[in-house]
Amino acid sequence: MPKVMPRVELIEHTPSPDKLISLAAKLCYSDSDIMDLKQGIEEKEQEKFISRLMSYSHLSPIEHASFTFGIEGVSRALLAQITRHRIASFSVKSQRYVGASEDFNYILPPSIENLGAEAVEKFSTQMATIGKWYEEWQQVLGGNVESSNEDARFILPNASETKMLVTMNARELLHFFELRCCNRAQWEIREIAWQMLVIAKKVAPSIFKYAGPSCVSGKCQEGVKTCGQMLEIKEKIQEIENSLI
Ligand SMILES: Cc1cc2nc3c(=O)[nH]c(=O)nc-3n(C[C@H](O)[C@H](O)[C@H](O)COP(=O)(O)OP(=O)(O)OC[C@H]3O[C@@H](n4cnc5c(N)ncnc54)[C@H](O)[C@@H]3O)c2cc1C
Repeated sequence: MPKVMPRVELIEHTPSPDKLISLAAKLCYSDSDIMDLKQGIEEKEQEKFISRLMSYSHLSPIEHASFTFGIEGVSRALLAQITRHRIASFSVKSQRYVGASEDFNYILPPSIENLGAEAVEKFSTQMATIGKWYEEWQQVLGGNVESSNEDARFILPNASETKMLVTMNARELLHFFELRCCNRAQWEIREIAWQMLVIAKKVAPSIFKYAGPSCVSGKCQEGVKTCGQMLEIKEKIQEIENSLI
């Protein structure tokens, strides 16, 4: 069964992330006791503290706020990319404990979908064939049990669907958005990065005010490979900002 659309949900986040980060920032520049500082942080000051931190590139205080996302309907190809982000924590559906079956879920790339019904049918038939091969190996190796699944899965494709919980702190999220919201990132990780960005802007608007691919807050980092679409990207960010007002 194909699953095309990646889905992202915010599962948990640091309560009052702006307040916590403002406290961390204020503490660095104040002689007062921490609890006094905590009492003294007013909501109207928070945006000012956070934007000052960002302008100094004093980013360690924003590491105190973390965000946990549930990501589903994505491929193992996406998994290989997102887990390259080392300053993040992951829990991923196991292919050993959770055996697949002949009609395993897979992700249909939009480029193949756009080719039309015949191409989609061909891809689907190929997946079904792999599903049969998977079950063949599973049976030969001892059935739907952990010890069989761990080797039967070697026949499964990158398209196989997976799901995960991902936790990142705000600093890592900003970095992730710079790399993965960029038009040069692969479509699937770009899709989930933009979904995460919208959520992050909603729950912590000051921290993520200038978040997005590098061209949003500064210069495109892609050099000669730039997509040249900075204006379109800025408009897209502005549309998100407007939708959150
Ligand atoms: C468009 C694109 C194409 C890519 N193509 C390829 C490819 O072809 N092959 C490939 O292997 N990868 C590829 N990658 C993955 C890329 O090389 C990184 O592994 C991935 O983007 C994670 O980035 P990161 O290391 O900055 O992030 P994180 O691991 O999240 O680290 C965040 C930051 O912490 C610091 N940091 C973390 N660990 C260390 C460390 N050990 N030493 C010093 N500083 C550290 C760095 O400043 C780093 O930027 C690609 C990524 C993108 C966006």
